[in-house]
Amino acid sequence: MTSTSSAHLTCLCGAVSVFGAILAAPELPIYKETCHCNSCRHVTGVLGASFPPLKTAPPQDTLSKLTCYKSSQYITRYFCSKCGSHCFVSSLRSKRWSCLGGIIEQSPSSKADGAPWPKDVVKVWYHDFVLDTLDGGLVPLQLSLDGRSIPTWEAEGPEPPPQDGSFDLPHATVLSLPKKSKTTLPQAKKGSFLPAKCHCGGVSLLIKRASHASTSNPEDSRCYSLSDPTKYLAYFCACRSCRLATGASLVPWALVPPDGIFNANASTSINQGEQPSEDNLKSLIFGYSTSDSDVNPGLMLKHYWSSPDTCWSFCSKCGATMFYWCGRRPKELDLAVGILRSEDGSMARSWLEWDWGRCSFAEECVDGETYEAWLTSRKIMEEIGG
Ligand SMILES: [Zn+2]
Ligand SMILES: [Zn+2]
Ligand SMILES: [Zn+2]
Ligand SMILES: [Zn+2]
Repeated sequence: MTSTSSAHLTCLCGAVSVFGAILAAPELPIYKETCHCNSCRHVTGVLGASFPPLKTAPPQDTLSKLTCYKSSQYITRYFCSKCGSHCFVSSLRSKRWSCLGGIIEQSPSSKADGAPWPKDVVKVWYHDFVLDTLDGGLVPLQLSLDGRSIPTWEAEGPEPPPQDGSFDLPHATVLSLPKKSKTTLPQAKKGSFLPAKCHCGGVSLLIKRASHASTSNPEDSRCYSLSDPTKYLAYFCACRSCRLATGASLVPWALVPPDGIFNANASTSINQGEQPSEDNLKSLIFGYSTSDSDVNPGLMLKHYWSSPDTCWSFCSKCGATMFYWCGRRPKELDLAVGILRSEDGSMARSWLEWDWGRCSFAEECVDGETYEAWLTSRKIMEEIGG
């Protein structure tokens, strides 16, 4: 067992740095539920998040570097004002502070001592708000982890979970969700748009349906190595930067080319329920000029350049990670999947083609069990017809 005092809590830019001894759990790994609710997804950009509790509120000098956002009557979330990393949550109801599981890592001094570090920082205790995902999200892949059967709850699960191991959403139902979401939707329409929006709506985008056949230069981008030309490629990244930017250990990205994303906040002509036309939509500007003032009018975007060529863009009001851009791949944007508002569910599978099992920077992953579960995703999806 590793003591939590050998950990520290940090954000992507390093402005936040808190001793791990603030964690309520004395040891790692910490067993905690993964929340799949709409708020958590839309406010972070990921598909599920865990919130290990703290003993006390974070220190005042740390809180002064954070922006707070009240995502509901009871929940206030805190993200780094400079880099957008979601760090802490306070609950009025439980009067408790928690951090985002993904910001816990080995402290520099523990690392310098060569102390061992566990394969998992947080282990999944149970899943809650599973039905918010509609398609099950990643839950069908995480029903059994290292021999543990993981309880699944339709909405909020009781804490602690019942002693007898019972829960209200049968695993068979969870396994049926991906197929159900796939078969209940109408056929993909050419020229349609997928809304992508942070929790507060300060950044609202429209994603054009992919049509790779019409692209003149297929060599341009990894987007085009797909079996379905009407979808964009989606995958996970486990690198330290993605983890700290969002607060989650596995970060889902969709690769979208520059001509596919529009600024919905600047397109006032869109009426409720009306299908937008590309002629009256304003393109999203990204890349080196994205930080210029007024380049994306109406969008409450803020940008953090972690290097001269690497930009993380988030909502300045709610802190949702929206997209990531780097100069090495200038012609595509990594769009955070958690902000997509697809009718078929959290994984937006009528718009995205998932590269099942693909995870960039797996060697940096701090949640071994969920990573290994992702590696089995292709097989499980084939078995359940999802
Ligand atoms: Zn920061
Ligand atoms: Zn939640
Ligand atoms: Zn927002
Ligand atoms: Zn990454």
